Amino acid sequence: MSDQAYRSKQPRLTTPVQYVKGIGPQRAELLERLNLRTASDMLFHFPRDYRDASRLVAIDQLQENETASVLGIVREVELRNTGPGRCILGALIQQDQQYLRAIWFNQPWVQDRIAVGDRVLLVGEPRFRGFRWEMAHPRLETVEDDESISGRILPIYPLTEGLNQTQMRRMVQGALQQFGDQVVEVFPAAYLQEHDLMTIRQALQQIHEPESSQQLEAARRRFIYQELFVLQLALALRRQTLDSRSKAPSLPVSAKIDARIRRLFPFALTEDQDQAIDEIATDLMRSTPMNRLLHGDVGSGKTVVAEYAMLLAVAHGYQAALMAPTELLARQHARTLARDLHASRVRIELLTGGLNAATRRQAEEAIAAGQIDLIVGTHALLSEGLSFHRLGLVVIDEQHRFGVRQRAALRRAELDPHYLVMTATPIPRTVAMTVFGDLDVSTLRTKPPGRADLYTYLGEASRREAWWEFFRKKLNEGRQGFVVAPLVDSTEAEGVASAQQLVETLTQGPLKDFRLGLVHGRMSSAERESIMASFREGTVQVLVATSVIEVGIDVPNATLMTIESGERFGLAQLHQLRGRISRGVHPGYLCVFANADSEESRKRLEALQRSSDGFELAELDFQMRGPGDLFGTRQHGLPPLRIADLTRDGQLLEQARLDAQQLVAKNPQLNDTDFRHLHRMAIRRYGQALDLADVG
Ligand code: ADP
Ligand code: MG
Repeated sequence: MSDQAYRSKQPRLTTPVQYVKGIGPQRAELLERLNLRTASDMLFHFPRDYRDASRLVAIDQLQENETASVLGIVREVELRNTGPGRCILGALIQQDQQYLRAIWFNQPWVQDRIAVGDRVLLVGEPRFRGFRWEMAHPRLETVEDDESISGRILPIYPLTEGLNQTQMRRMVQGALQQFGDQVVEVFPAAYLQEHDLMTIRQALQQIHEPESSQQLEAARRRFIYQELFVLQLALALRRQTLDSRSKAPSLPVSAKIDARIRRLFPFALTEDQDQAIDEIATDLMRSTPMNRLLHGDVGSGKTVVAEYAMLLAVAHGYQAALMAPTELLARQHARTLARDLHASRVRIELLTGGLNAATRRQAEEAIAAGQIDLIVGTHALLSEGLSFHRLGLVVIDEQHRFGVRQRAALRRAELDPHYLVMTATPIPRTVAMTVFGDLDVSTLRTKPPGRADLYTYLGEASRREAWWEFFRKKLNEGRQGFVVAPLVDSTEAEGVASAQQLVETLTQGPLKDFRLGLVHGRMSSAERESIMASFREGTVQVLVATSVIEVGIDVPNATLMTIESGERFGLAQLHQLRGRISRGVHPGYLCVFANADSEESRKRLEALQRSSDGFELAELDFQMRGPGDLFGTRQHGLPPLRIADLTRDGQLLEQARLDAQQLVAKNPQLNDTDFRHLHRMAIRRYGQALDLADVG
């Protein structure tokens, strides 16, 4: 059943599609492939796009380079090969006595969508070429002969084989006429008015058959708002539940504890660090669990802030756990903690999947017996067998690799721990408000002082030798460096650099006089660890690696980095990588060699060179690539958004969030209000992912 429809008591909305006017059993089978099973599903099968046929233009009225919609009949289709992998597809379109040529370069598949005799709608920019109008790469829609489209903004639906747009439009219209007035409004009328939202019936009408682009916008806005509101409602409810369970230990800071912790750091904290610590300390004092995201660029000093929080828990006799996404990073954290705390009596234990059974059992016993204060580990910390003595705080590093659900997994004991989630990947604001929407946010924007500059160069093939010469010069001055490739070995993709192959060419060529090491994700963690140790000690001067070094390597003497096949990395990832060479007092130098054929990859690299603000780069990356891999809601265990788009709907999201929070704050028992439908929708859609089972 559709997400946006309230599952009403109206039995008619659940009528199987085959009984909807104009559908029948055969088409119902096709619709099943699109998961369209009921009348309501048809109503909420939203168009994926629109074609403007509200002003069809006669071919002899076309204007140079002015986007226009033209309706005509296909008279000729011709595919010409113009070279290896190249072709031109041309189609001659007739309208009365006028002709227009449509062309597509290197898109032979368009041929399957167009046949002589078809009635087609073309939308594109015309140009007058010699003696005839031409449109390059127009949008193309086939329209059945008896469908009248003039004056309409045509909806374009997701389809399946065996159905065309005209048929789909007719079926949806049939469903609307027959069932449209059954749909239940989920927002109270006053609320709709106050928020300038269309009613659901109006919105359904306008999203399927817009009267104008303004009406269409308003209809979309209503559904986007609703989708975001339901999500934010679920997040607010989750917050409310967490808060009302109210089971975490209260860990107040005293002046004495504060002084004792700060004494451990060899530097004064930055203003941002102080601010974050204030926010965290305020949370920890309360007996409701903290749920906070500590958000800061590479090297902004998050670890120190987390250490403060962990030591505060320890000062009150509680354990603190620090969970990292990789073994490498867990070890790095354990080392940092051991270094900072060598003068204290705090007991630290490392717990990772890589430990042998005996060592691990020993560690687990010590943890259960309360002989350990700080536990650093990987996912191993989530294992069922592990029981903590008194867990007061969990710090999760690099949260983007953990789902909301895993966060819940540690919540086992009688008292819930406080949660601090750190991420070195600056998160676009809209994403922070959804994927991490149930968290409060602290941000470290400014970096600790005393950092040397970092220079970023975009390498050109002709300057390669000069770059290696510079690289050697710096190595001879005592610095160390990285060479990063996207792949482990070169059999994976042609023309893309691999770490294994680079080690070979570098040892024989530009870096033959230096000590090179190789590290990548396919090595055992013991192998990796031993090479990393050599790099830290300086025995290895240049580390050739894949992006495994993206997080957690802290070698201040490493100031050089070459990235090969840079087009293969995302902007946020490139920025993370260069964070590895701005850890010390010496300036860092990065050179990115890339196959920057594509516009997008060139833009990305230029942005990297221009800006050193991780937040700005993250926003840019997000705008360019969309919510994709790293930030997709799915990876975080949330069902995907259907109509809202976080790169575009930021403002509406902020509003929906605020509205949902206010609503929940005002009405702890939403069940009994005019918002009960929305409440139930939130539970149904997000209840499982957000562990809201007992709220409904
Ligand atoms: P992040 O985890 O945000 O990448 P870290 O906490 O690892 O950053 O800090 C990066 C480096 O800066 C570490 O070597 C750390 O010791 C140092 N550092 C942190 N805070 C300060 C500060 N206030 N002043 C000087 N150096 C600092
Ligand atoms: Mg860190």
